Amino acid sequence: MEEGEIIDLLLIQIKDFMSEQPNLHCKEDDISFSLEGIYVYCIQYKDIILQGECNIKLLIPKKYPIEAPTLFLKEVPSKMEHIYTDGSCCLASFGEIYHFLLNNPSLKEFVERFVDSFIFSLEWFKKYGNYPFGERKHGFEGLLDYYLTDWGLTEKQYWDMVIMVFNDTYRGHANCLCGSNKKMRDCHGKYILPIIKDEVFKNRFLNEACYIYEGRKR
Ligand SMILES: [Zn+2]
Repeated sequence: MEEGEIIDLLLIQIKDFMSEQPNLHCKEDDISFSLEGIYVYCIQYKDIILQGECNIKLLIPKKYPIEAPTLFLKEVPSKMEHIYTDGSCCLASFGEIYHFLLNNPSLKEFVERFVDSFIFSLEWFKKYGNYPFGERKHGFEGLLDYYLTDWGLTEKQYWDMVIMVFNDTYRGHANCLCGSNKKMRDCHGKYILPIIKDEVFKNRFLNEACYIYEGRKR
């Protein structure tokens, strides 16, 4: 698809999304669309329904779904962990978002999966002082948890993968670092290879590893 067509498709999705969100305004620059204003939500998790409004800024890259949107909130409780130093929300680990985006989800699907669940956590945190999704921890632990759970790695194996990405030593025919005795390409290569092949993804994966590493030291 041509770049222009991708942007046109994205614009249709944004208009569709905004038709249900009359208090959001769209700004545009060279690389992204920015939806800013009051987001009205009605989120259901198990048998709990949360309804409300939230002042947001959702930055959607024009390359979506190749690149992931970023969420900023105007008001965040000071003790909430899930916020990066640039003020953006930590929606999920890079690997989790990346693998979700591989299936070309619509903007709506992305919002439901990551933005809504973040807001749900936030509202829950404001009310109860803890997090609703116990299975996924928060902050750096949650980021690491994804690789331990969904990729099925030990922490040491995760760091081995990070070092491999950093040193560019991926070899498809080598034994996988996870100890499965399969070749890399038939095993964790499906996760690692797309990350190695793209300079942006590679940097994000490594930045995330630095963040996890810093968090681990504390
Ligand atoms: Zn493996």
